[in-house]
Amino acid sequence: MNQLIDIKGIGKTTLSKLENASINSIEDLLLYYPKSYKIQKINNINHIKIGETVSLEMTILNKPNIFFFRKNLSKLSVDCYLDNHKIKVDIFNRHFLSKVLFKDVEIVVTGRFKNNFKIFTANDIVLKKNFKEGIIPLYNIDDIKDGRLRKIIEVVLKSGYHLEEILPDEILKKRNIQEINNVVYNIHQPKNMIELEEALNRLKYQELLMFALRITLIKKHRDHINISKKTYKIDVVRSFIKEIGFNLTNSQKQATNDIFKDLKSDRQMNRLLQGDVGSGKTIVSILTALASVTSGYQVAVMAPTLVLSYQHFDEFKKYFSNLDVNIVLLTSETSIKEKRTVKNMIANNEADIIIGTHSLIQEDIQFSNLGLVIIDEQHRFGVNQRKILRQKGYYPDILLMSATPIPRSLAISIFESSDVSQITEKPKGRKPIFTNIYEFQNMKRVYQLVNQELNNNNQVYVICPLIEENETTNYFSVMETYDILNKRFPTANIGMLHGKMKDKEKIDMINQFKNNEINILISTTVIEVGIHIDKATTMLIMNANAFGLAQLHQLRGRIGRSDLQSYCCLIVDESVEDIDRLKILENTDDGFEISAQDLKLRGPGEIFGKNQAGIPNLSFANIVEDQELLEQALTDASQLVNINNPEINQLKNQVLKTLESYHLD
Ligand code: ADP
Ligand code: MG
Repeated sequence: MNQLIDIKGIGKTTLSKLENASINSIEDLLLYYPKSYKIQKINNINHIKIGETVSLEMTILNKPNIFFFRKNLSKLSVDCYLDNHKIKVDIFNRHFLSKVLFKDVEIVVTGRFKNNFKIFTANDIVLKKNFKEGIIPLYNIDDIKDGRLRKIIEVVLKSGYHLEEILPDEILKKRNIQEINNVVYNIHQPKNMIELEEALNRLKYQELLMFALRITLIKKHRDHINISKKTYKIDVVRSFIKEIGFNLTNSQKQATNDIFKDLKSDRQMNRLLQGDVGSGKTIVSILTALASVTSGYQVAVMAPTLVLSYQHFDEFKKYFSNLDVNIVLLTSETSIKEKRTVKNMIANNEADIIIGTHSLIQEDIQFSNLGLVIIDEQHRFGVNQRKILRQKGYYPDILLMSATPIPRSLAISIFESSDVSQITEKPKGRKPIFTNIYEFQNMKRVYQLVNQELNNNNQVYVICPLIEENETTNYFSVMETYDILNKRFPTANIGMLHGKMKDKEKIDMINQFKNNEINILISTTVIEVGIHIDKATTMLIMNANAFGLAQLHQLRGRIGRSDLQSYCCLIVDESVEDIDRLKILENTDDGFEISAQDLKLRGPGEIFGKNQAGIPNLSFANIVEDQELLEQALTDASQLVNINNPEINQLKNQVLKTLESYHLD
C-alpha cells in the first residue's frame, strides 16, 4: 500500500474529495486529525433524566408507523421495550429505516425523553450489532461521511502502515511521550480517554517544540553576529545614579545589571524589560542610554504617542542636564525647518539621544552611529516598524519595554527570542490605589469623592469608552459626560482629550492638566500609556466593563504615582454581567496576575494585537494554558539546536523553511 488509491474502498470520487481536504497521501490521511470526538456508550436506565441526551438499548415490539407531513418531513414511530417498559420511539426523516426495523430486532436509540418517560424522541437509531461503544472521532470533511472515513483509516491502520518518527528518541523518552505510530492509533481509534489525552499531549508538545525551535534558531542566528562591545564609562554611570534623587529598587538594579552585561558583550542585545505601570522602567532606560552614549553611540528612543515622546524628552533632558549630551525630539509636530536641523544633527552625529514617535522610522532619517534602540510600550508597534528602526544601525542593541507583564516563556514567544528582565516591585512609598465598582445608580458616593479630592486641590481623570454618543450602544461618551460633570461641578475647570483632536491640541490639554489649570480631564483611552501627573489622584472609568482587564489596569496606572492616596472608581450599569471579571481589579493591583487573568479570558492576540508576528497559530496547544509544555519545549529546543545529526538537522530544516526573512534580519 503506497498511495491512497491502493486502499480498499477508495475510488476516483473519494480520492478527489480527499484531495479537496488536502489529503494527498496515506501519510496525510493518518495525520489528518479529528476535529472532535463523541463518546458513545449505552446509558444505564436507572440514571437517566427527562431532557438529557442518552443512548438506550431497546427491542422492537411491532412494525413501525410512518407519517408523511410535508414534502420534506416524515416521522417514523415504533413501539419498543426498554427492559420491561413500553416506550414509543419517534424519529424524523428516517422513514427508510423501516426496512430494517422488524419485530424483536435489538436497536440502540440516541435521543431524549422530552416530557415524560413514555415517548422517546430519537435523533439516531442503529442496530445493536452495529453500535460501537467507545470514543468516536469526528472529522467533518466535506462530502465524506465520518463513518466512511473511519473505515478507510481502519483499513490503513490494520495494514500496519508505518509512519516515520520525526522527534528524536531522547525526547520521547525524556518527556515520556508517545511515538507517532501510537499517536495515530490513539487519535483515530482511541480505546480510552487516558490514551487519547496522551496522544493529544504529544501533538501539543510537537507543535510547541517546532515553535520553540523556531525561536531558538532565530536567537542562535542573531548570536552569530559579532558587534563591537560597548565600553561605557562606569564611573560616569555611578555618579549619575548618585544624583537621581531616589534609590533604585532591587528589580531596577537587577534589570540594569542584565542590560549592562548585554551592552558589554559582543552580541546584539535583544531584551524585553517588563514592569507594571509605575514600576520605574524609564530610569532604567535612561541609564541604558547613558551607558551607550558614554561608549560613543547614538541612542534612539521611540514611543507610541506624541504625548509620551514629549514626556520622555522632558524627562531625559532633566536627567541629562548636567552632562554634555545632546538630546533632540522628532515627531509629526516638528516643523519642516526644525526637522531639517534635527535630521542633520542625527546624520552628523551631533545628536546623541534622539527621542520621537513613528517619525523616527521615516526613510530620510539617517543615523550616523546608532548603537541602541529603546522602544517604549513596544507592543504598540508592529513587527515591521520595530524592524525598520533596528535597521537604521548596524545591529544596534535593542531594549523593548512593556507595561503588560506576562509570564517569561510567553514573553519570549510572543516577542521572539528576546531575553527578558522583569521589574517586580514598585518604588517604596506607593500607597495601594483604592479600587471600587459602583453602579450608575450610585453615583452620589462617587461625586462626594470627586468633591473631596477637588477640595484638596487634587485632580481627576474620567475615562469614557466613546467620544460622541452613538446609536448602537448606550455607553457614556466624552461629550455627554462633559455636560453632566459641568452641571455637577460648576466651579471646576473641565477639559476633554480624545483621538479626534489635533496632536497640538492634545499636548496643550495635557500640559494644562499637568500645570493643574484643569481639575477634571475627561478622556478616551488615549491617555492609557505612560502619562505621569503627580496630583491626579482619582480616576472614574465609565462603563468599565467595556474594557479589557489589562487595559483597565494600565488606565488605573495613571493615578497612584505619588505618595497621595488614590482612588479608582469602576462605574458600570447595574445590568452588567461580568462583574466578577472587574472584581479582580478590586482585589489586586499585581499587573502580573491581572494580565495572566486577561490572557486566559481573551488570549494574547486580543491583548497585543494581531500584528505581533510572534503570536503563533497553534492548532493543538494553547499558548496560555499549556505554558508548562512550552517551558519544556523551550528547554528541549535549546538543547536540540546544538546537536548536529541528520535526524535533528531535518527537524531544524523543517523549521527554517517556515521562517520569513525578516525574522533573521
Ligand atoms: P513606568 O514603569 O510605568 O514607565 P516610570 O518610569 O514612569 O514608570 O516611573 C514612575 C515614577 O516613579 C516616576 O516618577 C519615577 O521617577 C518614579 N520612580 C522610578 N523609580 C523609582 C524609585 N526606585 N524610587 C522612587 N521613585 C521612583
Ligand atoms: Mg513608562
